[in-house]
Amino acid sequence: MRTASKTAGSAGRGPGELGPKMDYLPVFLRFEGRRVVVVGGGEVALRKAQWLLKAGARVTLIAPELRADFARFAPDAALSHTRAPFEAAHLAGAVAVVAATDDREVNAAVSAAAQAGAIPVNVVDDAALSTFIFPAIIDRSPLIVAVSSAGYAPVLARGVREQIEALLPQRLGALARFMGRHRARVRALLAAPGRRAFWERIVRGPVGTQVLKGDEAGASAGLRRELLAAQLTTPSTATTPALGEVYLIGAGPGDPDLLTLRALQLLQQADVILYDRLVSEAVLERARRDAQRIFVGKESGERGQQERIHELLIELTSRGQRVARLKGGDPFVFGRGGEEIEVLKRHGIPFTVVPGITAALGAAASTGVPLTHRRVAQSVTFVTGHESESGTSDWRYLADPSHTVVFYMGVAQLAAILARLRSAGAHASHPVAIIERATLPGQRLLRGTLADIADSALAARIEPPALLIVGAVAAFAGADDLGALVTPAVDACA
Ligand code: SAH
Repeated sequence: MRTASKTAGSAGRGPGELGPKMDYLPVFLRFEGRRVVVVGGGEVALRKAQWLLKAGARVTLIAPELRADFARFAPDAALSHTRAPFEAAHLAGAVAVVAATDDREVNAAVSAAAQAGAIPVNVVDDAALSTFIFPAIIDRSPLIVAVSSAGYAPVLARGVREQIEALLPQRLGALARFMGRHRARVRALLAAPGRRAFWERIVRGPVGTQVLKGDEAGASAGLRRELLAAQLTTPSTATTPALGEVYLIGAGPGDPDLLTLRALQLLQQADVILYDRLVSEAVLERARRDAQRIFVGKESGERGQQERIHELLIELTSRGQRVARLKGGDPFVFGRGGEEIEVLKRHGIPFTVVPGITAALGAAASTGVPLTHRRVAQSVTFVTGHESESGTSDWRYLADPSHTVVFYMGVAQLAAILARLRSAGAHASHPVAIIERATLPGQRLLRGTLADIADSALAARIEPPALLIVGAVAAFAGADDLGALVTPAVDACA
């Protein structure tokens, strides 16, 4: 580490003020229509040639023979092949050269010739012979992120690339192009001070979300409305903030690694998070650190809570807040997501629904139960075990072992559910599994039959959240150790 200059703040900028040395200066090169030479004919040369072609370069391959899958590229103006060993004359007119052979002597010769002609050269996996390197790339063109460890730790750089890759929405490039298309018009209509705030609202608000969802027409209309509103107010007179929006996000069954990428992206930008009892602390930790958290879980018997949630959604968004409404599992599976979007629609509040892994799927995966199975079960139903809501189901159908039934919210009603299945014709040996806290630390599994599962559940003191899987496939539960690898499972029948 260099010591900081004692003259910091003075006009002169000694090297001490520049911070640690940078091994490479990241720059973006325009290769469109320019000639770049790639020496080599193998897999590595192919990969480099593909990046160069993507950037519009005219690539000349120098190799006595092409071993890799170059056949797909018909030689044309963009890609040509010189069937010969490398010689310095091949570099005439090139703006850059890549050496990608497995022969160090050839690579060294390419590097020397390039440097003699002041042509930037990259020798793959050889920083000492290179004057430029290829970074790890996150491509959301026209938005591009480049990551490099300057050759110190390529694995680390790749890891960082993967993390950023997961965080950046797939359609970020479309958003960049969308903004580019409207730039001139916005510049003409808005003065500089308000312009920046305007674009911030577009990127972080409903218009940006709409582009990222793929609804460019809706986004264009939204942008026109925002533009009109911005023209009517100046930053100093603006009192009503722009309308916020709601992200109705499925948080999955509990394990934060089961969040979707979109859930993570939106959790990173929400200002407020309204979450249920079923949303695990580990999931909440993946949200923006400084977001306000409001617990809105419904304790059983608590009336009016759903109305309070609706009021919060309306009030927070009217203050311009981006609200993540986080629900356990999937918002549209026994999640009252339908009621919430009705309210949002009625009040003209923009929203996005992000599906989540519903508890049945999480529990099935972590205990090795295939919900359908070619020979064993051909269909699956998710039913609420809640007394007031499950009365309408056709129990004869549910009692058929070749049909898988997953009962949510069934713990309290266990005895009643089992009795109804029996009286609808299910055999006493009909397999049942109960999974408590699926995918969470301390997950428990009970496997049994209609005849004995109630006793086991009582003895094990099963508590919510838990669900029942009923049907022939339930016999598979815990049959392999896959579930046990994820979280220790207690198999009462083992
Ligand atoms: N929207 C949620 C369901 C909410 S209803 C989803 O899609 O998963 C609440 C019920 O879901 C609980 O009573 C329980 O039956 C089930 N449940 C939710 N999370 C669970 C978990 N981690 N393990 C077992 N069951 C769970």
